[in-house]
Amino acid sequence: MALLPMFDVIIAKVAEWFNKHRKSSGEIPHAQKLVPRVDKIMHERCKDALLLTVSELNSYHLEYSVVGLDGNTYLVDLMRKTCSCKCFDIDKYPCVHALAANLINVKGEIDVHELCSKYYWVELWALAYYQTIYPVPHQNHWIVPPEIQEKNALPPLYEKKKGRVQETRFPSVGEHRGRSRRRGSHTRGRGRSRGSSQTEGETSQSGRGSSQSGRGSTQSGRGMGSWFQCSNYV
Ligand SMILES: [Zn+2]
Repeated sequence: MALLPMFDVIIAKVAEWFNKHRKSSGEIPHAQKLVPRVDKIMHERCKDALLLTVSELNSYHLEYSVVGLDGNTYLVDLMRKTCSCKCFDIDKYPCVHALAANLINVKGEIDVHELCSKYYWVELWALAYYQTIYPVPHQNHWIVPPEIQEKNALPPLYEKKKGRVQETRFPSVGEHRGRSRRRGSHTRGRGRSRGSSQTEGETSQSGRGSSQSGRGSTQSGRGMGSWFQCSNYV
């Protein structure tokens, strides 16, 4: 039951996002075919594309050789929508080399949006958000089939673990949880004293181990301790 308010919040947030993107896609001028981010990138790249040197390799297959701004030569295939720089292949919208090649296309310049994946088209963007997300009505208004109502959902069987029950959750990735000073200092103090006593114990143990097998000496702290112990005996 505690999950229901959480689901309500999630649904409300998704409904808000859908409405926001629906309005954004509706405000795009009709002539603009690409989503704003890609449209802006294309405009910026077109300026650089005019500066590049393009050689036509195959006018039927729309293959070109383009010298980039970095002086390297790139192979562009407009039919396959690929470029040897791989930006076109991965981003699914033309790199600067592909735009430069498209400018000298003898078959007529292909509209830039045709070279982009449909997922960057405004048309598809609007289609993704056109449906309304409705909030779930109150539980009293739910229509639950009788066969579902008869079911009694029990929690899954599990084996109770031994030891103290963990009450705090593990921090997530990138989450820094500050410790209280009192608890932290207490833990540190206890840890230090325990650690030092352990170290002494382990040192003596590893000392024995090294005298028996010699493997302990390869480990840093224990090994040196055992070495000193052994050297004292010598
Ligand atoms: Zn390229």
